[in-house]
Amino acid sequence: MKSQDIRSTFLNFFKDKQHSIVPSAPMVLKDDPTLMFVNSGMAPFKEYFLGNAQPKHKRIADTQKCLRVSGKHNDLEEVGYDTYHHTLFEMLGNWSFGDYFKKEAIAWAWELLVDVYGIDKDILYVTVFEGSDEDNLPMDQEAYDLWKTFISEDRILMGNKKDNFWEMGEQGPCGPCSEIHVDIRSAEEKSAVDGKTLVNMDHPQVVEIWNLVFMQYNRKANGSLEPLPQKHIDTGMGFERLCMVLQGVQSNYDTDVFTPIIREIETIAEKPYGEDEDVDIAIRVISDHVRAVAFSIADGQLPSNTGAGYVIRRILRRAIRYSFTFLDQKDPFIYRLVDVLTKKMGDAFPELKSQKQLIENVIKEEEQSFLRTLDQGLVLLNKVVEESNSKIISGEKVFELYDTFGFPIDLTALILREKGLELNEEGFHLEMKKQKDRSRAASEMSTEDWTILLEDDVQEFIGYDFLETNVKITRYRKVVSKKDGEMYQLVFNLTPFYAEGGGQVGDKGYLTDSNGDIVYILDTKKENNVVIHFTKNLPKDLKGTFKASVDQKQRRRTESNHTATHLLHQALREVLGEHVEQRGSAVHSKYLRFDFSHFSKLTPEELNDVEDFVNARIDGKLQLQEQRNIPMELAIEEGAIALFGEKYGDTVRTVRFGKSFELCGGTHVKNTGDIWYFKIVSEGAVAAGIRRIEAITNDAVKDYYQDHDRAFYEIKGLLNNAQEPVKAIQNLQNENAELKKQIENLLKEKAKNLKGDLKNELTEINGVLYLARKVDLDASGIKDLSFEMGQQYDNLFLLFAAENEGKALLSCYISKELVESRGLNAGAIVRELGKHIQGGGGGQPFFATAGGKNPDGIEKALEAAEGYLK
Ligand code: ATP
Ligand code: MG
Repeated sequence: MKSQDIRSTFLNFFKDKQHSIVPSAPMVLKDDPTLMFVNSGMAPFKEYFLGNAQPKHKRIADTQKCLRVSGKHNDLEEVGYDTYHHTLFEMLGNWSFGDYFKKEAIAWAWELLVDVYGIDKDILYVTVFEGSDEDNLPMDQEAYDLWKTFISEDRILMGNKKDNFWEMGEQGPCGPCSEIHVDIRSAEEKSAVDGKTLVNMDHPQVVEIWNLVFMQYNRKANGSLEPLPQKHIDTGMGFERLCMVLQGVQSNYDTDVFTPIIREIETIAEKPYGEDEDVDIAIRVISDHVRAVAFSIADGQLPSNTGAGYVIRRILRRAIRYSFTFLDQKDPFIYRLVDVLTKKMGDAFPELKSQKQLIENVIKEEEQSFLRTLDQGLVLLNKVVEESNSKIISGEKVFELYDTFGFPIDLTALILREKGLELNEEGFHLEMKKQKDRSRAASEMSTEDWTILLEDDVQEFIGYDFLETNVKITRYRKVVSKKDGEMYQLVFNLTPFYAEGGGQVGDKGYLTDSNGDIVYILDTKKENNVVIHFTKNLPKDLKGTFKASVDQKQRRRTESNHTATHLLHQALREVLGEHVEQRGSAVHSKYLRFDFSHFSKLTPEELNDVEDFVNARIDGKLQLQEQRNIPMELAIEEGAIALFGEKYGDTVRTVRFGKSFELCGGTHVKNTGDIWYFKIVSEGAVAAGIRRIEAITNDAVKDYYQDHDRAFYEIKGLLNNAQEPVKAIQNLQNENAELKKQIENLLKEKAKNLKGDLKNELTEINGVLYLARKVDLDASGIKDLSFEMGQQYDNLFLLFAAENEGKALLSCYISKELVESRGLNAGAIVRELGKHIQGGGGGQPFFATAGGKNPDGIEKALEAAEGYLK
């Protein structure tokens, strides 16, 4: 069965069981502070499990893009070395939110695997939770009894808490689970070793394919469990592993999900897969990583230096390292795999098709720049090797290479080995640990359980229409982090505060209690669909009623920037073309930042046109027209622009100003006239094919022009209030150039005269014509003078000193004849005399200079010079 059919069979099977089929959520999470990437099928549905929102359908099935490269689930280091863990993989899942439970979940899993896919039941094993004393939980007898009706009891194995109790994180929904494993070894191997003993033992052909999780508890901060009000089903089946079983191969990489990519790598690198273990690992790493990176970019996450972007950059760099070292690829080539990947997966994941060009450009540019880094790293490494006087290179040095230049340790080790050297690995890991501890300490955070004050289903957001309202606190909790210290998070029954999202910052403001006491709200964020207000302390009477007031000034300025962002988007599409797509935006109260796809720098004319376009719409005083809660399809049909990589619900909000029409949850001005004015302050590149504009509106423009105005008047004042300041500056520049020339000529003249005078000052010491004195010349003047005098004598010793801008200079000239006959060395002499002026220097035996920071030492240096001739 082809992989495409395997996927659709799964979805159709559950469709027939009344499941609603939904598309994969974007893999990169934007508004979840606890998670960077979706790492399991359940992550996009967290809010339903937590009871913060109600799903439209109680039964859902999907295939979800998952990435396991950070945090609790991190398989990165396995990838390439084994044949069944990936960074990015698809998780097929069926979900019940408070609907069916263990009975159906188990029966359907069996029906699908055995009856529909036709897997021989004699290669299957299942596991059941054995119970846990620690948590005071009994064995999952219910699951055991259900399984027993399908599979012989000797194939039902007991699993411990680690394997058979699934937890979302430190806290939150959790429950026992049953895994389904396959044993795809040969008959011989099976008769030699019983498959039962290999389950959950990391055997590459006895692997878990499906995990059925029975969510029925909530893990609290103190570690205790409480039953969930509703029970849920959460299942996850690894798509690539399922393909391996159904296609009768022994490795995920031998399925048609990977073979087209692997064939392409073989062709480009001219290295066959399956002959050399190092090459094979490299090929697996690359074919896996190109998927992870391509999907992330398609979801809007570009490689970068921080956060999720950094994780993506490191995945790509890992692939480049392997191709550099084991496939001898010294030029970019991974980007060339995007084409096959898109052909293979573009139908199931259309974002790959629509973003193909961008994905290729970004990967290529990253490859180029990292290959340059590798080159530089090699040079640096050679230097480290040269400077080291031991056969073992210090771990600290290797760590420095790794940390500052991204030069990977395994590559370093390999190169050193080729040179017959070793590296101190222990030292390296020690440095690594030190760094990790530092960053862990900085990001450590502890979160207490919520204290519930009031039962409340949904917290209503009323901030589109009101900036002030009376609220009650429904729950709160304390969070402690290194970064912010102790903070409280409050949830209200309703709120006018906008939570950070869609690029717009969260509102600030304050709560006032009935006595007029105030607690400041420092930020507002959303977590699992709940709006959380951050405060430094708790109000006195938590159960009271408060007036919640949004900081109006900040909100108004932010709104002004948000609406301007929409107009800018429209302007760019109008002025540059329809290829312009939003790639990111940040809407603050002081400025706005907008990233978009476009391939060249904007010309001054284009920037002007964009500004004019926006300002014309501000002048036009366009009224805000918004629709709340309209069906997504309808909005798209009407022509609203949706942003890629954004997760939209079934119903959406649209925001329209004239012809600018977008899906948007942010807050806006009521009329574009409120923006007052729009000004671009910078334009530049952020990545291949992605530009960034920063702009300001409203009061910020006033400040901007006022600052410029002030600077201009200051300049004018300095120019004696010249009528035409530009001309006045040009005149000054010309005058300056003319004066420079004159000074040069004068200096030359002076040197000539000086030469005449100095000849008379030469004295003879032991047959050497000697002179040591201070002169009023710069370094090049002294050099000219020394060489000119040197041409006239062959027994000359000159030591000149000069003082310039608080610094001292020494310069020693010795005729070449003397250098040989008397063994004198100007370089050694200035180095010694340089000590008097607190400096150092060097040069050649016949001419050398030294600079220092102590001009007071010049006299001593000059006096000491005679000593070299006696
Ligand atoms: P394993 O022990 O094999 O790492 P897991 O216990 O981490 O698996 P779950 O978290 O239960 O797996 O995920 C559900 C299913 O997703 C697994 O049964 C497996 O088929 C698949 N899966 C998990 N991790 C990976 C991965 N890194 N690459 C590919 N498939 C995976
Ligand atoms: Mg795992």
